[in-house]
Parts: sequence; structure tokens; C-alpha cells
Amino acid sequence: MGFTKKSFAVELSKLKVFLKPKEKLEQYSTDSEVAAVVLWDAALRGDIEGKNVIDLGAGTGILGLGALLLGAKKVTFVDIDNDALNIAKENYETIKKDFDIENAEVNFLNLDVENLEKKAEVVVQNPPFGIKDEHADKKFLEKAFTIAPVIYSIHMLESKKFIESISADFRYEITAFEELSFPLKQTLKHHTKKIHRIMVGTWRLEKTN
Ligand code: SAH
Repeated sequence: MGFTKKSFAVELSKLKVFLKPKEKLEQYSTDSEVAAVVLWDAALRGDIEGKNVIDLGAGTGILGLGALLLGAKKVTFVDIDNDALNIAKENYETIKKDFDIENAEVNFLNLDVENLEKKAEVVVQNPPFGIKDEHADKKFLEKAFTIAPVIYSIHMLESKKFIESISADFRYEITAFEELSFPLKQTLKHHTKKIHRIMVGTWRLEKTN
């Protein structure tokens, strides 16, 4: 759609984020710069254009919507929280006005990822990091392994060993890995907004035969 990496990141930065993040669900929208890097690299590897993509724990939709902008032919947004999906839908309507993405098939599914029974060519996900619920990202990875041969997944850097071992268990190979700094916006009681950066990793996992 004639993007440069920069103009793509700018488009993503215009999307709405969580209004009232639900702490228990670890809702934080992926920073637009981080999302742009992950998706742009995925597109360069041929993993986006014309592909059937599932965004697991889609939240406000930045990853799946970015995939749509880069030419995915089908994107399914899955989230347990309908309020989040409503923002994702709103974001979708907004970008649809400005970009030619009408031909792509788009679905929004209000489900626990556990109960999803669809397959895709590529999964993109920034799951809960497991700060509140230790195994939150494990559930997402296990589901992703049953869905698609190629997975892009964002986790805390501390999860590196865990990602390596679970990928090997499910016979997925780590074909790309990058460390990025991820801003988590925290609203404190005194109405001051503080940005706290954490280190995350982005992994590309591919099924081995
Ligand atoms: N992928 C989005 C949102 C990340 S926040 C982004 O990159 O911006 C994590 C999301 O996972 C939240 O929207 C939360 O509602 C959702 N979530 C948490 N547990 C879930 C579950 N069991 N099934 C589906 N979605 C879940």
C-alpha cells in the first residue's frame, strides 16, 4: 500500500489503545514502533502479503490491523474481552476509510484462545506476559503451535529459555529473534503518567518437518 517503514509506524500510532485496561487480563497495547518493526520484518520474509493470519489476544488490534495494511488476505482477531474487540473494530473501520483493504476477509472472535478451533498460515501475538498469571503466555504458545506453521510472538526477555524449550517440545525452530525495548504506560494514582520500559523479545517460530 505504498508504505515506508516510517509511514507504516505512523499509521499504527494513530490507532486507539485500551481505554480502561483490565489489569487481570494484562491489557497493554503493543507500542506502535515495536509493532511496526515486527510486522515490517515479517512482511519482508513473505509472511504477511496474501496470508491468512490469526491475531491471538488481539486486544485493540494493532498487530492484526498492521498485517491487513501490509496485505494479509484474511485476518481473525481473537480476544476474551469484548470491550477490547470493540476498540479493534473501531480501529478497523477507521483504517478502512483510508486504505484499500476491503477485499481482505476480517473476523472478530470473542473467545478464550483455549477454545479457538481455527487454523491459519501465520499467528501474530503479544500475549499477556504472565505477570499476573504465571502461565498466561504458555497457553497462547500452545494454542499457536496447533494453529499455524509460522508464529510471531512477543514475550518478556526473561522468558527466553522458556520459549526455547517449549518451541523445541512442539518441534518449532526459532528462525529469528530480536530484543526490543517496550514502553509500558502506567497511570499512577497521582494522575501522573509514567512510562516504564521493559525489555522484550520478538520470536519467529517455524514448524520443522
Ligand atoms: N495483542 C494486543 C493486546 C495485547 S494485551 C496488542 O498487541 O496490542 C493481551 C490481550 O490478551 C488482552 O487484550 C487480553 O484481553 C487478551 N487475553 C488475555 N487472556 C486471554 C485469553 N485467555 N484468551 C483470549 N484473549 C486473552
